[in-house]
Amino acid sequence: MELFRITHTKAQTFLRCRRQYWFGYESGEPWPEESQAAPVVIGNAVHRGMQELCESGDEHAARQRVDAYLRMPKHAAAAPGTAAYDDVIAFMEAGIAAHASIDSVDRWAEQTSWAPWKRAGVAVMARVDRVDRLRDGQYQVTDWKTGRFDDPYVTDEQLDIAHVAARIVHGLRVDQPVRAVAWNLRTGEQRVRELERDDARATLQRMAGLARRIQSEEEFAASPGPYCGWCRWRERCPEAAAVEDGDWLTDYFDDEGDDVAAAAE
Ligand code: SF4
Repeated sequence: MELFRITHTKAQTFLRCRRQYWFGYESGEPWPEESQAAPVVIGNAVHRGMQELCESGDEHAARQRVDAYLRMPKHAAAAPGTAAYDDVIAFMEAGIAAHASIDSVDRWAEQTSWAPWKRAGVAVMARVDRVDRLRDGQYQVTDWKTGRFDDPYVTDEQLDIAHVAARIVHGLRVDQPVRAVAWNLRTGEQRVRELERDDARATLQRMAGLARRIQSEEEFAASPGPYCGWCRWRERCPEAAAVEDGDWLTDYFDDEGDDVAAAAE
């Protein structure tokens, strides 16, 4: 039996907007190019630099790799001389300090794994920014963040899946705890989860349940809202146009829309 592959991104897309999920994973339509807006370029550049830092341990090489990335014409939104470029440089310096503070005896960057669970018919796929085996024997998985705000619910889900991946890739003992950290290089905030094998089991069960819901879904209804602004598919989505039109509330409530607007003033 072919296993249904589920990732954190797939799961969150389905929970956020089923139409978006349909566009991305069911429709067969070619994916629109990824936006190269400043926040996207910033995040990608910092992840490049942190990967280099983890792999080589050379902070100069990491800075150089980031600078070369940002000088590419495609990444003009964060080119040298822009405020976004200065942000990347600041986040990289925070990342270099973070790297130096992790007392590890071994480390791995950008690890990808999958957890096939035949009985449940799913395979949970995950990618982890960094895994460390610390001097005290503890394992730590780290997800680098650069946003102004991280949704705690989504972040925890991501860390839980990264934890599963780390357990599998490194064949961790049943009684081996894992620290999962979402480390924001903009704010300095660290969201830490201390996770155990039973947590991994619960994560797999949750993902299997979600996979069953996705597989039984037929309508894939749209949920237009603030996320439409970041949705790659919005050019092809009529519901997004309804939200972008400033009068959509008026249209929805018809005459009462005027009353709603008046009450808000
Ligand atoms: S534009 Fe909005 S409603 Fe349409 S698919 Fe994307 S998130 Fe969903």
